[in-house]
Amino acid sequence: MNAGIVIIGAGECGARAAFVLREYGYEEPITLIGSEAHPPYERPPLSKSQGASAPVVVAPRDKYASERIDLRTSCTVTRIDPDLQLVHFAEGDPIKYDKLLLTTGATPRMLRGISPASKRILPMRTFEHALGIKCLLGPTRRTIIVGGGFIGLEVGAMARAAGTEVVILETQSRVLTRGVPQTIADTLVERHRQEGVRFECGIQIEAVRETDDAVEVELADGRTLTADSLVVGIGVVPNTQLAEAAGLVIDNGIAVNELLETSAANIYAAGDCCSFPSAIYDGRRVRLESWRNTQDQGIHAAKMLLGKPDTLASVPWMWSDQYDLTLQVAGLADGSERSVVRNYEDGSRIIFHLGADGRLLAASGIGVGNSIARDMKLSEMLIAARAEPDPDHLSDPSFKLKSILPR
Ligand SMILES: Cc1cc2nc3c(=O)[nH]c(=O)nc-3n(C[C@H](O)[C@H](O)[C@H](O)COP(=O)(O)OP(=O)(O)OC[C@H]3O[C@@H](n4cnc5c(N)ncnc54)[C@H](O)[C@@H]3O)c2cc1C
Repeated sequence: MNAGIVIIGAGECGARAAFVLREYGYEEPITLIGSEAHPPYERPPLSKSQGASAPVVVAPRDKYASERIDLRTSCTVTRIDPDLQLVHFAEGDPIKYDKLLLTTGATPRMLRGISPASKRILPMRTFEHALGIKCLLGPTRRTIIVGGGFIGLEVGAMARAAGTEVVILETQSRVLTRGVPQTIADTLVERHRQEGVRFECGIQIEAVRETDDAVEVELADGRTLTADSLVVGIGVVPNTQLAEAAGLVIDNGIAVNELLETSAANIYAAGDCCSFPSAIYDGRRVRLESWRNTQDQGIHAAKMLLGKPDTLASVPWMWSDQYDLTLQVAGLADGSERSVVRNYEDGSRIIFHLGADGRLLAASGIGVGNSIARDMKLSEMLIAARAEPDPDHLSDPSFKLKSILPR
């Protein structure tokens, strides 16, 4: 029997790739292996204000069976052997692959010295983390969030919705330093403050202690903060261990080329775990941690595994929901030389980032609900088209961005 395609990592990316392989008519075996107990599920709902009472699965278990995808959950791959094309487990026989896709995702960074078994100090990555955090929220409860990135801020909003007292600690001088303009970060901070969130930026944490019924954080300025729980939102590291041990090239994630091929024959990688040359940004190597990218690369990986020539030229895009506000970021602003602000009557705002040559590199927008959705979509299309829009047009909210889209 043909060994078929083995996918390690049963998250959004791996699941998407498996289903698309079948959509494209691949008839050989597909094995999708994941350490977690659940079938692949969506991570974004975990930290949104409603929280999660059950995993929002990509597809129910029986869909995998009907598509003849051998989904193995609670199953961890311990080693891959690129020469013999084998995947090994802690127990049981190894399995052979014709082609292997690594969609191993990322692991949240933890504070030094904190036990992964802690019940009060948790990161936010899995459904179990979300449940654990939810159990510690509620009126009369206090939580400390370490890290003012997207996850930290979303958990802050979620905690406030549950009536919890929230303080967000950030070592940088402001929150959302990665890829979000100051003015947009300020809008979010203001909204959080209206909801009662306290921010402590530019602080240093000296020690974190967990007692039977509380968490204590000792700050470098001598203060000690106490809470019922602490959520760690200080970023993630890509899961490259299997690839590294197998001798694959690692460069801020598992390094792949535009075909998502790693440095080893017949091994591909996609999603949060890999860095790739971005076609939109002239081949610059990037690693993205966003839902859209993971979906796009899962689909692209399926095509690449089947040898269907195609270029993935999608614009990096992510969103975050906090209270009634939605933030969207399209493109990558690094290297931009100029910013142009478009203020809308309803208080929404988009900031455009232009390169030295006038090319639109990125756009970041914030507004209530869907207010910026349409113009952000058009901005994304302009970025993809490598447009060089007139800054006066960009700053004028009455100007229709659609009119400058190349036909
Ligand atoms: C709480 C949260 C909220 C988010 N919200 C947003 C949002 O609002 N907007 C947005 O754009 N993005 C958001 N994201 C990011 C987005 O969800 C991720 O980019 C996406 O889930 C990554 O998918 P993935 O399949 O690449 O990796 P993962 O989802 O990490 O899946 C990888 C899987 O591989 C498994 N695995 C790893 N190693 C092995 C092994 N050796 N053997 C077997 N299995 C293994 C892991 O256990 C994991 O289940 C959010 C992420 C989180 C955590």
